[in-house]
Amino acid sequence: MVKFKIEEILVMDERRLLNIAIGMLDYYGYEVMMGSDFTIGYREDAQLCFVAHVDKVGGIPQVKKSGIFLYSANGEPLGGDDRAGVWIMFELIRKKSPAMFIFTNGEECGGIGAKEIINTIPQEIFKDISLMIELDRQGSLEYVYYHSIPKEVKKYIESFGFKEDFGTFSDISILSPYYKIPAVNLSVGYSHQHSRYEYLNIPVMKDTLSRCKKMIKKPLPKVEYTPGEDYEWEYYEDIYGLSDDELALLENKNAIAWLYGEPYCIECGEPAFSCSCGNIDNILEEGGYGIHT
Ligand SMILES: [Zn+2]
Ligand SMILES: [Zn+2]
Repeated sequence: MVKFKIEEILVMDERRLLNIAIGMLDYYGYEVMMGSDFTIGYREDAQLCFVAHVDKVGGIPQVKKSGIFLYSANGEPLGGDDRAGVWIMFELIRKKSPAMFIFTNGEECGGIGAKEIINTIPQEIFKDISLMIELDRQGSLEYVYYHSIPKEVKKYIESFGFKEDFGTFSDISILSPYYKIPAVNLSVGYSHQHSRYEYLNIPVMKDTLSRCKKMIKKPLPKVEYTPGEDYEWEYYEDIYGLSDDELALLENKNAIAWLYGEPYCIECGEPAFSCSCGNIDNILEEGGYGIHT
């Protein structure tokens, strides 16, 4: 079956991606379950469950390459969030990896596909799944979780080189507490998602793929789990509670530009993420329309 390049996946329609996922999973021998906003590939021997979302913020990007980075030249967000995660899952499926795969739509709208899954897919198919791994985190080698997770899970993820960070929402915020399976979200190499300055670091995306392959070879044994409280939901709703005026103000302060593949602060000239002059980090996340990481 045809191999898709990340450049192709970045410009595809979300419906087409859900359909490609169906065809690919079927071709490589997975049992397929589908709804209007999700596609699931299932295998009896699956212990890890990977999750990525096919939807993106904004329209079709004009994808350009600069060294190891991809970016968008037409003002539409690149969509490495979360097409990088989709690309990694396609690669794992092509290798007939013994894992489960969930593609959702509408993650950027509060998790439409994930909500459809909990309303239609029985607990039964998750009975042997020890960990859900969403591939939808910015940056490199970080993991976040949205409900407290057992020590064993942290130890397991950290043994593959990932470091704990803080995140606000993704599909697993809905799936993990419902099915009572611990879940983490891993970095896939994009930065400044939801904004025209978004870029994707290709080696980081490929590195996450190779770490996922190692995890599949050495899956986490099943642990007893009761999810803790989901504090992050409140934070998520707070940010979306900003008025139009407040959002416009943040947008005006969005003082970064594109230079050599890295956004930088035009006030102090430092990289946007480590800028010391005025909290550029927050401006980007909020002014770029989103806070999900
Ligand atoms: Zn997003
Ligand atoms: Zn995302």
